[in-house]
Amino acid sequence: MGLKEMFGASGPRREPGVPESGHAADTSSRDVRVPEKVTEHVLVDSTKGVVYVDRNHSHDPEIRTWIHRRTRESDLVIEEVDATEMAVLKAKARTESSSAVLDDEENRFKSRVKDMLYRAARNGASDVHIQVRQNDTVVHFVVDGESRLAESLTQHEGSRALKTIYQGIAPTSDSSYLPRENQNAQIPGDVFPAESGLTSIRVVKGPCYPQEQNGEFMTLRMQYSGGSRRHGENEKLPYPPKPEGEYRLPSMGFDAKQIEALDELMAVPEGLILFVGPTGSGKTTSIYEFLSEMTRRKPYKRVITVEDPVEIPIPTAVQMSVTNAQDKESTARAYQGAVRTMLRMAPKVILIGELRDEDVAALAMEAAVTGHTVVTTLHVDEAFQWVDRLETMGTGKLKRQAFCDPKRVRGVITQRILSHVCQHCAKKLSELPEVPRSHRLAVEALTTWGDISNVRLRGDGCESCHKSGVAGRYAIAEVIKTDRDLMSDFVEHGTVIARQNYQARPDSERPMIERAIAMVLNGRVDPVTVEDNIDVIPKREKTNRKPHLVAGIDAEQPDDRLAAGILGVGA
Ligand SMILES: [Zn+2]
Repeated sequence: MGLKEMFGASGPRREPGVPESGHAADTSSRDVRVPEKVTEHVLVDSTKGVVYVDRNHSHDPEIRTWIHRRTRESDLVIEEVDATEMAVLKAKARTESSSAVLDDEENRFKSRVKDMLYRAARNGASDVHIQVRQNDTVVHFVVDGESRLAESLTQHEGSRALKTIYQGIAPTSDSSYLPRENQNAQIPGDVFPAESGLTSIRVVKGPCYPQEQNGEFMTLRMQYSGGSRRHGENEKLPYPPKPEGEYRLPSMGFDAKQIEALDELMAVPEGLILFVGPTGSGKTTSIYEFLSEMTRRKPYKRVITVEDPVEIPIPTAVQMSVTNAQDKESTARAYQGAVRTMLRMAPKVILIGELRDEDVAALAMEAAVTGHTVVTTLHVDEAFQWVDRLETMGTGKLKRQAFCDPKRVRGVITQRILSHVCQHCAKKLSELPEVPRSHRLAVEALTTWGDISNVRLRGDGCESCHKSGVAGRYAIAEVIKTDRDLMSDFVEHGTVIARQNYQARPDSERPMIERAIAMVLNGRVDPVTVEDNIDVIPKREKTNRKPHLVAGIDAEQPDDRLAAGILGVGA
């Protein structure tokens, strides 16, 4: 039996307050909610196959609906009794062992869930992912390394399935199923038919976004005898749905060459991609755009994230958040624990919100060479400082000789958000009686870079810019793909030389400050905005750059490409 028959086609949708399942003898546990009236006036004795109902209430619609569903799905016989008899039966039920009066529906649900796992085995799945979301539950089978959508369930069915697997099927687990905790369990293979080839299933479960709406995940790692999987069934299962929306990075300020570099980073099968920049640099927005686009291109790659907290929901990803920890140390422990849990879930693509300490960084570096695409952030201001930062974290156990490997760290992206001046009210520098004091040093430096006749300062605001003087906020970025030369410079000669040699290459990514200077010379950005967000504008001779660099600036980043997107600013 497939899941569709098991879950999907089981009759009319549940009415509010009338759960599909439950037994009247025990309503203490959360997942077997039964309407109060049913609890009071109905008793199921599954050993005898009888549903007792208080005849004074047997015409109550709520009770009728419930009984109708129960008897339609099984061979239970209805027997009307009076209130006194009911009281006697209930007292008896309480004293007998709970299994004697255990609702057979529990067992039926359990065998449905087991059937689902058996079906996964017949399809040769390496993993089963169950994600309980706000409004539904999705079940993925990972077959030949690709996530496939096996079934969609209601949220309630999903929560119930998780609980059933954890404490109904896995005998090694303790009975304290805690939906809000990360927990592990093991299911022995002999629970399943021998033809399944299963020797055991390792279970990892825990809460995930949206936790307030009872979001939960479970990963089941299927272990087969001889390590081989049976391919008896080979159902044609679809890929999970792609994220909605369009790829916005091209309209957010990333230029064509940078988009190409990001495309290449998106394509690598494993390795770490590092987004750096201060708070407010917009890197969070960029990461979510990057991950969403990656999922659009490769919907079969499961994305799992650990964040503190979840900043932007990705419906197609399992997002674990680390919050509510009392102090810094317990937050750090919780974070490390979440990353370890995530790695046990056999993800393909992972987002680690931040390399916040060396243990997390070490886990990320390890994941990057064991088949994962790792997207993460580090709190440094520019694209070459990450090596020093990682090495000086904590006790210094991360060594650049080990992590400065272009197969391990694939790319480093840094960015800022710059407000562009409103062209309707901007003040042309050349038309001002004198350079404002606030701009003098910057303008002096600018004259060393090129013609300043187009430079515009932010105006006082007009109708067109809602009195802000600003016509949109855009990213300005550096996207650096690592390679052997860069990495060996880091190891052999240190950060200063590595940066210098990289920037001296004719085809290298231009430093962010020079991109910004180009925008100032084009009259799109006020020079003070550059000072505020990137750095003081240097005199050209103070950089170690070759003089060819400013040429061609005017042709870059046509405004119409930028016009589409105005950035929301994340951390
Ligand atoms: Zn304006």
